[in-house]
Amino acid sequence: AKSEGRGTYRFFEARMGAQVRERGLLEHDMRHAVARGEMHLVYQPQTDVRDGSVLGFEVLLRWQHPQRGAVPPGLFIPIAEESGAILQIGEWVLREACREAAGWPNPLTIAVNVSGLQLHAPHFAQLVHEVLFQTGLKPERLEIEITETALIRDPARAQSTLRQLKALGLRIAMDDFGTGYSSLSNLRTYPFDRIKIDGSFIRAVDGNEQAAAIVRSVLGLGRGLGLPVLAEGVETEAELGFLVSEHCDAAQGYLMGRPAAIGVFTAHTHGPEPD
Ligand code: C2E
Ligand code: CA
Ligand code: CA
Ligand code: CA
Repeated sequence: AKSEGRGTYRFFEARMGAQVRERGLLEHDMRHAVARGEMHLVYQPQTDVRDGSVLGFEVLLRWQHPQRGAVPPGLFIPIAEESGAILQIGEWVLREACREAAGWPNPLTIAVNVSGLQLHAPHFAQLVHEVLFQTGLKPERLEIEITETALIRDPARAQSTLRQLKALGLRIAMDDFGTGYSSLSNLRTYPFDRIKIDGSFIRAVDGNEQAAAIVRSVLGLGRGLGLPVLAEGVETEAELGFLVSEHCDAAQGYLMGRPAAIGVFTAHTHGPEPD
């Protein structure tokens, strides 16, 4: 039994070693991914719950690795954050997305995810200001999506950067609402303009009274604070029907549109090409 235990231990040790090596390889390949044209952007519509009209798009990053194929963002974004590569990649995303959105009809908006490292980098607000100026995008058409985990590194610094961003005239959304540790106090402390309810709650509303109660209370919270609420991860008509009856403001999810190349939404000759 003793040798069996050691064998199990060696097995896990070997697996962990492989994971560390795998991370290192991805981290290495990521450094040149933007320059080599391996990264591209997809866009997912955000719609008005009342009439289904498109309000804007969230931009999502994709990495097509030459050997591995598509690497999921849930895998490579955390590595990019830890290695610092997200600073360069995130700047590229912001610039490309704003350039793209500047060509859309007014008032369509663009929502860009910003990681904690970017938010805490010196002169981040200055960078956003420059990108807006260079691309000609009106600040009110840009929304920055921040998760609560992005705030915790240095709350005072995050606060001051968010205030600088607000002063530029753009909007700030709290992403993945309900999955953090202190959502309520963060909503009060930081200058958020919008709440995005995490998709995990939406996907459970159908038939799950607890999830439905949570979504209702977040909508009530939004009304009380004067913050519009967007529901993420809407996949079924039943989920959308629930959001309509509960007067949710906006929605995003596979039901209204999968993330896709922007051409899919502008050219009407093609059907949507998912990811
Ligand atoms: P997120 O910001 O919460 O983005 C929403 C995720 O939900 C996206 O996954 C999107 O494809 C997916 N999604 C949208 N509608 C549905 C639906 O109806 N059902 C389901 N099951 N999923 C849906 P994706 O593109 O894989 O991105 C994962 C995460 O990676 C994002 O979560 C975000 O945290 C991060 N990410 C993606 N692009 C960027 C970026 O440019 N910068 C940064 N910092 N993070 C990014
Ligand atoms: Ca997001
Ligand atoms: Ca989210
Ligand atoms: Ca997320």
